[in-house]
Amino acid sequence: MPVNPSDSEKEYFLKLELEKLRKLQEESAARMKEETKKKLKELHWMNCPKCGMDLKEVEYQNVKVDYCGSCGGSFFDAGEIEQRLKLGEEQNVLGKFLKVFKR
Ligand SMILES: [Zn+2]
Repeated sequence: MPVNPSDSEKEYFLKLELEKLRKLQEESAARMKEETKKKLKELHWMNCPKCGMDLKEVEYQNVKVDYCGSCGGSFFDAGEIEQRLKLGEEQNVLGKFLKVFKR
């Protein structure tokens, strides 16, 4: 069956249109992902991962710890422990931590 040129032209423009729609959808999905990430961060930032109460940042031995007064959890920021380990102070510092933060 011969293809009517105007039909193939229509097909071409429809394909372009569909491609454009797909791109828009992808972009909006990516944006939604970013917004969800942002919302999650706003919701959870400085809240205890165990009980959900507010965390308070305390500093001891030059290490910052996010401490939960509600459940007694203490949480290190990324890299804090690694830095201590590099300095070779880990036993000393972690031992002191245990004494201070233990309930
Ligand atoms: Zn807690």
